[in-house]
Amino acid sequence: NVRVRFAPSPTGFLHLGGLRTALYNFIFAKKHGGTFILRMEDTDQSRLVPGAAERIEDMLEWAGIPPDESPQKGGNFGPYQQSQRLDVYSRSAQELVDKGDAYHCFCTAQRLELLKKEALRSRQTPRYDNRCRHLRPDQVAEKLAQGQPHVIRFRLQEGVEPFNDLVFGWNKHEVATVEGDPVIMKADGFPTYHLANVVDDHYMQISHVLRGTEWLISTSKHLLMYSAFGWTPPTFAHLPLLLNKDGSKLSKRQGDIFIEHFAQAGVLPEALLDIITNCGSGFTAENRFGRKLHEMISEFDASRITTHSALLDLDKLSEFNRIHLMRRIDDEQKCGFLVKDLQGLIVQTYGPQVQESDVLHSKYIKRVLHLRKGHITGLQDLVTPAYSYLWMRPSVPLGQLEGVSSEAHTILTLVLELIEKHGKEFTPECLNLELKSLAKKMKVTKYNTVMKFLRLALSGQQQGPSVAEMMVSLGSKEICNRLQGLLK
Ligand code: GLU
Repeated sequence: NVRVRFAPSPTGFLHLGGLRTALYNFIFAKKHGGTFILRMEDTDQSRLVPGAAERIEDMLEWAGIPPDESPQKGGNFGPYQQSQRLDVYSRSAQELVDKGDAYHCFCTAQRLELLKKEALRSRQTPRYDNRCRHLRPDQVAEKLAQGQPHVIRFRLQEGVEPFNDLVFGWNKHEVATVEGDPVIMKADGFPTYHLANVVDDHYMQISHVLRGTEWLISTSKHLLMYSAFGWTPPTFAHLPLLLNKDGSKLSKRQGDIFIEHFAQAGVLPEALLDIITNCGSGFTAENRFGRKLHEMISEFDASRITTHSALLDLDKLSEFNRIHLMRRIDDEQKCGFLVKDLQGLIVQTYGPQVQESDVLHSKYIKRVLHLRKGHITGLQDLVTPAYSYLWMRPSVPLGQLEGVSSEAHTILTLVLELIEKHGKEFTPECLNLELKSLAKKMKVTKYNTVMKFLRLALSGQQQGPSVAEMMVSLGSKEICNRLQGLLK
């Protein structure tokens, strides 16, 4: 029974690295008919950001990889916030104390600080000297009775067993020779990460731990705890790092690696999932642009995850978005949602002027989407000045449309006739021919002048795409509306 978990600390926004870890867990669960769990590791009270936990879960929903069990959804193994499981940790810590695998430590902050300074002075890595390991039971009892502040430390054993990581292969870290005994329960009654993580993975019956490679060196320590408890550990798979394409660290300070930033910028979740799996490994076909989530699941093969860092080229994101946007436009139901989103964007950009206008009709917007698909990398492209002619009717009175003097009226009437003749079907090519012959019929004006005039008449703009292209985008109904408006 496969059960995997994504276990972020709610200390800020979900970022790309976190999304990737969550995604691999989600895919792994779905591939094996298992369960994907979201657990909030919120035991470091000093680093909590209010609302972060909810937002992380919301972002997983947005990305289309919702957890099966979570703080918001609940489940049979909850609560799913560590801060609500304190009794489980204190019971577990006591269990280790009773077995002799953990002990109370009464060392003061000053003493620990002193140890640290001494170590640094002699150029050694600071580590706790395990002094309280040697307290007699009666000394411990007395200090506890006096109410002395204390933590609980795990007694690290030497001689760790190697473990077989699904990605990194056989591994072991002789923690006891490099570290002092780690704190597992803090003085404030909260557990540290190491204890809470092991206890929760056990009680939540996690079968596989897929997490970032930064935890690889802690795993031996965790395995010592599993064995002290007498529990069977899960299988571990440490995921390689996600880096910028030049190999530098993805910086959270840049702000642009937060999932909320991408969502607000109009990036489609499927494009984001596609780009972060494309730069990594674990799939039967590598470098396959445009992979959908269900294809990721069917093509996933954990044994193909390599230890190489994944180099992310965010410059390619708009290309991924272009492809996935095309797919959405071609999907009847999804296109309906795009139409709604675009309506919102148009009103937001051009204000109440367009509110009453036909350009907000979903039929018109849908046509535009189908015509522009493949050319746009996001809906917001369609509200840039280059496309404003689609949504803003020109308000230039006929008299002010310069350049064609007395023939203005005739030209517009001829174009109207031309449109009526062609009905709804016209291509830029046939329109170009027609417009050329129309210009020839005019006595005084040159082709270019006629085109300039027409662009202005149709769009109110001096520049833009070719007149024929514009006319195709506007469609017969909107062209007639605009020209008739001018002729009135
Ligand atoms: N809370 C840890 C983190 O945010 C979880 C690590 C793990 O998955 O074990 O990285």
